[in-house]
Amino acid sequence: MIVDENKAVGIDYTLYLSDGSVADSSEGDEPLYFLYGHGNIVPGLEKALTGMKVGDEKVVEVEPEDAYGEFDEEALQEVPLTAFPEDTELEEGMQLALMDEDDNYIPAVVHEILEKTVIMDLNHPLAGEKLKFNIKIVDIREATAEELEHGHIHGAGGHNH
Ligand code: ZN
Repeated sequence: MIVDENKAVGIDYTLYLSDGSVADSSEGDEPLYFLYGHGNIVPGLEKALTGMKVGDEKVVEVEPEDAYGEFDEEALQEVPLTAFPEDTELEEGMQLALMDEDDNYIPAVVHEILEKTVIMDLNHPLAGEKLKFNIKIVDIREATAEELEHGHIHGAGGHNH
């Protein structure tokens, strides 16, 4: 069996940033399971894994446009200080959740604190980053009809509901 459309795939991975630092890893943890072809992982990585078999290893480099996108200046938003609860101790680099008009939480980072406003960065934390993954395929199975309908996998390493 190979990594392809509608397969549930388990991978061991380590993610390196361009400065060589480790951003994330499954080492010492459960493998990452994803449903191939449903946007569960970044497109550049998914594409590179196509056709691999259990036990295969690969180093995959992914450009920002095939990962979390380029850094977008327009995703910097100025928010009045009064929008934050009074006891919030704002610090640059701090992660917060902002609420949009539809009451959805959007993760954001405090980019710059000004006199009366705060510049919030709504880019994905890995936007603009070129990513390097060390990958090993540890499991491949057929996805169930229910998993295909939900667009994610269930059971070990997946959703429980
Ligand atoms: Zn589900």
